[in-house]
Amino acid sequence: MTYYHYTAQKKKLMEEFYGVEAPQEVDVQPPEVVSTKGCGSRLPSRVEKALKLKSKPLHQCKKCQECGHHDSRNCDKFKEKEKQRSRRNSDV
Ligand SMILES: [Zn+2]
Repeated sequence: MTYYHYTAQKKKLMEEFYGVEAPQEVDVQPPEVVSTKGCGSRLPSRVEKALKLKSKPLHQCKKCQECGHHDSRNCDKFKEKEKQRSRRNSDV
C-alpha cells in the first residue's frame, strides 16, 4: 500500500466517522500575545493596533496615571488645576 492509498483510506474513514468531509490539515496559529503593560486592560483590535503603530507610543502620565500622549508637565488634570488657580487669582 502506498502512502497515497493509506492517506486516502484514512480520509475515507474520517469521513465515515465524522459523517462529513475530513477537515483539511490547518496550521493552528497560536493566539496573539498582547502585552498590556498597564496601559489599558482591553485588548486592542487589529485596526487599533495598526493605528497605534503609526501614532506615537502611549506614555503613562505620572499625574493622572492615564495612558495618553501627554506627560506630567502637560497633564490635562494638572492644567485644569492651574486654570482654576489662575482664574481665582484674576478674580481677586
Ligand atoms: Zn495626565
